[in-house]
Amino acid sequence: MSLIIRSSAIHAAGCYTMTPIRKGARVVEYTGPRIAKDVADEKYEKSPTTYLFGVGDGTMVIDGHGTAMFINHSCDPNCETEEMDRRVWIKAIRNIAAGEELTYDYRLYDGDDDEARCNCGSKNCRRSMYAPEEIRRRARVAKKAGGRAGERNSGTRRKTKK
Ligand SMILES: [Zn+2]
Repeated sequence: MSLIIRSSAIHAAGCYTMTPIRKGARVVEYTGPRIAKDVADEKYEKSPTTYLFGVGDGTMVIDGHGTAMFINHSCDPNCETEEMDRRVWIKAIRNIAAGEELTYDYRLYDGDDDEARCNCGSKNCRRSMYAPEEIRRRARVAKKAGGRAGERNSGTRRKTKK
């Protein structure tokens, strides 16, 4: 499988396949050091972007380093992630043609005040990279706070994929 990183219409850089990929194939592993979630949150507190991927019960994250960290989010993705023994694989959920950009659904679950707006352009775009249940949770929190949720921790963007 040959993957390349180049600029993407979705966001900054993206990951593209040069060869066709069959549905069900493992495309690439989400590699990087494993660190404790609270350590990662501290490390990236002031960082505008993170490439963290939650594994296991969520107390550990993979601090993305390598090809897979460039794969963009889409609400209508051609890949999904699969966790086995605390390793995370990007897997094709349909046949993918040569030249296509690889995408999966980030299902973000912790972003503080970041809107994590989605620009994937798909017909069923939910306008957010958060998981649907996280979107509902955030709406509840915002309602409780009387629309003042934006005051807490403003300026930090810590997001973990799942
Ligand atoms: Zn979208």
